[in-house]
Amino acid sequence: MNNRMKRLLLPLLFMVSVLLAVNQLSAQGKTAAPASPPPLKVFVSVDMEGIWGVVHGNQCSANSPEYQIARKWMAQDTNSVVQGLFEGGATEVVVNDSHGSMRNIIASELDPRAVLISGSPKPLSMMEGIDSSFAACIFVGYHARAGSAPAVLDHTISGAAIYSIRINGIEMPELGINAALAGYFKVPVVMLTGDTETCRQAQELLGKELVTVAVKEAINRLAARNYAREKVLVDLREGARKALASLKNFRSYQLQPPYQFEINLHNSQQAELGILIPGVRRPAPRTLTFTSQDYLEAFKLARALIALAGVS
Ligand SMILES: [Zn+2]
Repeated sequence: MNNRMKRLLLPLLFMVSVLLAVNQLSAQGKTAAPASPPPLKVFVSVDMEGIWGVVHGNQCSANSPEYQIARKWMAQDTNSVVQGLFEGGATEVVVNDSHGSMRNIIASELDPRAVLISGSPKPLSMMEGIDSSFAACIFVGYHARAGSAPAVLDHTISGAAIYSIRINGIEMPELGINAALAGYFKVPVVMLTGDTETCRQAQELLGKELVTVAVKEAINRLAARNYAREKVLVDLREGARKALASLKNFRSYQLQPPYQFEINLHNSQQAELGILIPGVRRPAPRTLTFTSQDYLEAFKLARALIALAGVS
């Protein structure tokens, strides 16, 4: 190679090596880019009686002036949980408004990262939207079963119709009925918020590892000591983060089939229309029973019987 060729070749080699280096760097850049996290979907069902500040039915009824502020507290409690969930690694959060008309949370007041299921009726009611794609289920603002004391606004689904609901002999709060539906889809309940008695009932039924955040302590059915707001909002956020961090410790709530439902109503009239449905029995004037191998089917039938009790 003569000197002239060397003079031509050297810059060329330099150019090629620079291009190769740039190419390698960009390839490294591609592999070093963070991979998108695996999906972690969380389902959140939000009731109202167990929301911070709520101690009376008027605060939960759309026709009362007190309702307008309580629905904001409902969004705030929920948003703290949603924030903790995203901090804890959730990639998608679906919030199902689960009280009364199910149009309580003002859509624009919910954390804009979350999906809001709003309105009623919905086939799965308080659990509308749940399916096996979710990694965890959370109950916010829940309340104790009918007949609990002291407990804020204790009732089971319908205060006007239901005295008690037993499934396989266990007297169930809404949290148990709904946890078993999450269990049908193999989704564990990892956290619950409400008053202290609701938290106690939840751990008794779903296990001590359940993360509970008490936002108030009932004095009686219509009075409570609401904990300091600032601390409650921090506890809700921290609780959600903690629940996701220990997700592997949770198992879904499973009841054994056949599912034997016993619905005890307040009066005999409320059982009149239910017995028109095939398979439903009336062993006592105020009691309707049925059995099913399929929990989803049983959940829907129970809902239908409660709706019929309301129009009997
Ligand atoms: Zn409610």
